[in-house]
Amino acid sequence: MVDVLVIGGGPVGLFMAALLLQQGVSVRVLEQRTGAEPHSRAIGIHPPSLDALEGIGVARDLVAEGVPIRRGRAVGGGRTLAEMSFAGVSDRYPFVLSLPQARTAAVLEQRVRQLDPAALHRGVRVTRLHDDGGRVTVEAATGASAVRHTAGIVIAADGVRSAVRPQLGTPVRAKDYPDCYQMGDFADTTGFGPDAALFLESAGIVESFPLPGNRRRWVVRLAESGAGGDARWLADQIRQRTGIDVDPASNSMLSRFGVRSRLVRRMVTGRTVLIGDAAHEISPIGGQGMNLGWLDAVALAPVVLASLQGRHVGVDLRDFEAGRKAAAARAARQSEINMALGRPLAAGPWSIRNRAITAAAAVPAVNGFVASRFTMQ
Ligand SMILES: Cc1cc2nc3c(=O)[nH]c(=O)nc-3n(C[C@H](O)[C@H](O)[C@H](O)COP(=O)(O)OP(=O)(O)OC[C@H]3O[C@@H](n4cnc5c(N)ncnc54)[C@H](O)[C@@H]3O)c2cc1C
Repeated sequence: MVDVLVIGGGPVGLFMAALLLQQGVSVRVLEQRTGAEPHSRAIGIHPPSLDALEGIGVARDLVAEGVPIRRGRAVGGGRTLAEMSFAGVSDRYPFVLSLPQARTAAVLEQRVRQLDPAALHRGVRVTRLHDDGGRVTVEAATGASAVRHTAGIVIAADGVRSAVRPQLGTPVRAKDYPDCYQMGDFADTTGFGPDAALFLESAGIVESFPLPGNRRRWVVRLAESGAGGDARWLADQIRQRTGIDVDPASNSMLSRFGVRSRLVRRMVTGRTVLIGDAAHEISPIGGQGMNLGWLDAVALAPVVLASLQGRHVGVDLRDFEAGRKAAAARAARQSEINMALGRPLAAGPWSIRNRAITAAAAVPAVNGFVASRFTMQ
């Protein structure tokens, strides 16, 4: 019996665990993977998350490893349409930090192990849970054997394919989008340094972000879901749309993804709370999913502590749920705007849209507003 069981040792579950362990709460994290997740998904860490990560003592390490993106530029037809500085968005962290998710998760795992070497149980797949009103019993498989854990509170951070969510009977608002993308990491040949660049081209958007080690991530909107190809194909698309040559031989990651959103109607069921992607799957275009999950954890931690101290937390839980569902809905809307902006356009509407962007970005108030929305302020 522990105070809190966290299901899922992804970036959100690990961060949640570290927050609670730091407060002296007994926590176990059950993670089905036996090793670290190798795939690189998220790269952008926003200023509110860096404040939160500072709270568990890892912000400095992450910043030391990552690339602070202090400026974004929009490019179209070979010329800069607009520039956006993040200088005004935060006093402590006036940038979006670029770091591959696998590295971020490794730093979080190390912090959890520092706080309690026995907290993380790898190779444990949760199969069922039962809430008797006073505590929750979780059944899990580890290798060929079955194990049981019991806790006062369960926090499910088990990702988009959450096994916990259907067991709770949680209704989900689902939306599928027509957009499809291919991304790849290559050696940086742009000369953009630490700037992010969005190429608003009539064939569809191309996004380019700096990565540590003088590399860049490229994300290309595909014409249709079956499109895409190997590193050479992606490099050709980048060159055709942006005029920039990337070296296919330097490719280290290639991935295609479609887009959907899933927002739960309820994050709290009895003594179990869903957070992170288990509660809200957001389009990666906009790069907010992982950050949103961390901010769920920040909002939930004081409620969990109050509950463990025996205080009545009914109202706090309702406030938590309402606030975080609203934040997820906001992030989903923001990503819809970003996706719409990146869709292919005929030459006429394309140049009208790009002129409008240049005009709007020249207004400092509009520029500042977009910068703060983009950085989750
Ligand atoms: C292409 C792409 C790019 C992205 N870019 C960004 C970005 O730049 N910024 C951003 O903020 N977000 C981004 N995201 C989203 C981000 O990757 C996710 O929001 C983030 O991984 C969510 O973290 P999580 O811990 O909630 O879930 P996950 O990372 O999915 O972790 C869930 C964990 O639970 C474990 N698990 C699942 N089921 C069980 C079970 N039954 N028992 C035990 N363990 C279980 C899994 O093994 C996994 O380790 C991107 C996503 C994609 C696909």
